[in-house]
Amino acid sequence: MKLLEDRIRKDGIIREGNVLKVDSFINHQMDIALFREMAREWKRLFAGKPINKVLTIEASGIGIAAVVASELNVPVVFAKKSMSINLDYDNYETQIQSFTHKKIYNVIVSKKFLTPEDHLLIVDDFLANGCALMGLLELAAEAGATVEGIGIGIEKGFQAGGELVRSKGVQLESLAIIESMDSTTGEIVFRPQPHQ
Ligand code: 5GP
Repeated sequence: MKLLEDRIRKDGIIREGNVLKVDSFINHQMDIALFREMAREWKRLFAGKPINKVLTIEASGIGIAAVVASELNVPVVFAKKSMSINLDYDNYETQIQSFTHKKIYNVIVSKKFLTPEDHLLIVDDFLANGCALMGLLELAAEAGATVEGIGIGIEKGFQAGGELVRSKGVQLESLAIIESMDSTTGEIVFRPQPHQ
């Protein structure tokens, strides 16, 4: 999606360790007009799918997912991270290794909000090694929900997550895929996306 790629080029900051900082428009200050355009693009890409709920993970997925849910006119549920083992049996639970914080989180969703009747669009800001997405797919599977697709804002194509998730046969639509980025020169190369 050209709008997002242009914005990443303009305002993204490449940090050591393959981290892209986008806190002026996604991760701290949020550009809702941009989120709206991203949501419209996913609406187009997932047209015809019987999506009745958006699923994301706290914290940084929530802003984008809320706008997507508004555009699709469905509710949004976010998986909660907790550092302690949760002994409440009314939750689905899994573990996720965080790329940015290098910690393992327990992640939960209440059984009230994820059911076998649900047809989910999973949304997140970034895809790196795919741990967050694999955790969300696991929670959806525990609930018996159907995953209709996955919408990612920025995929770091040089990390393993994209291939891992695509190998599962789920429709994954990343609006910007970074092929490479260089923290010394500031150069970012995007993967061409024919359908966008
Ligand atoms: P994964 O689980 O795919 O390794 O990482 C996905 C999560 O890590 C995303 O939800 C995002 O919050 C965070 N993340 C991964 N890489 C980056 C990055 O380069 N920049 C930012 N801002 N967040 C990232």
